[in-house]
Amino acid sequence: MALLETQALTANYGDFQALFGVDITLERGETVAIIGANGAGKTTLMRSLSGVLQNAPEQIQHKGTPVGALPADTIMKRGIAMVPEGRRLFRSLSVEENLVIGGQHKGGADFGDRLDSLIARITGAPDPALLAGGHDGQGYWTLDTIYELFPILRERRHTPGTALSGGQQQMVAIGRALMSNPDVLLCDEISLGLAPVVIKDIYAALPKIKETGASVIVVEQDIGQAMRVADRVYCMMEGRVTLSGRSSEISREAIHEAYFGAT
Ligand code: ATP
Repeated sequence: MALLETQALTANYGDFQALFGVDITLERGETVAIIGANGAGKTTLMRSLSGVLQNAPEQIQHKGTPVGALPADTIMKRGIAMVPEGRRLFRSLSVEENLVIGGQHKGGADFGDRLDSLIARITGAPDPALLAGGHDGQGYWTLDTIYELFPILRERRHTPGTALSGGQQQMVAIGRALMSNPDVLLCDEISLGLAPVVIKDIYAALPKIKETGASVIVVEQDIGQAMRVADRVYCMMEGRVTLSGRSSEISREAIHEAYFGAT
């Protein structure tokens, strides 16, 4: 039984159909990359997997249970966490506060979609109760292990999100998702807008994350990066999977055709 899989997954925004029968599988211990041009449906797939978008129940299976219609809170409690595109931190809160909220937050895999209401509740000085509550202690990931993964975050623990570089913000976004100790980590374009040296640092964390037992899906526009990090790759175009296979076995030509379409 796969850890996570979609079966003929469809998704709509109103009358607009964005996914047309997508089948993907994530096995335990794997890293899978989803690649494809702008508008291919990658983010829609991630939003479906994280419960931000609702689908037919049986179209998504987590450990053999139909979860396609479950809301984001429930999906996160089941162990599926999302690092959303654009990072979406609480920009006025410190690194540590953002991380602590990730450990506490049982209410949504796509953190970003609830930022507004949460920000309204968390204003001004840090709430000691929030910091004291922290992570529930189950699993490997705590503030300390996140700081071991990204030592710069320990140095900047009291720095507000607004004063962080893009790479540091991305590290916080990943750390925040890990604080829920997921068995599936969904990463949506984590290298977007970052310098190559920073991208290298961010991706260097993936093997360590996998060592703790998490399996990973990355959405990535950079084909080379995807092929380097992933065991298997799915290429999407116009809401469909146009190619899939082991990274070591797919040719550049096949990827190119699946990514851009036949010319
Ligand atoms: P990108 O790399 O630009 O993020 P993507 O592969 O992630 O692209 P999606 O964001 O999933 O693609 O978009 C798939 C299709 O759905 C696109 O045609 C897009 O315009 C459309 N779409 C995405 N979000 C919405 C929305 N909220 N309402 C209507 N259409 C949407």
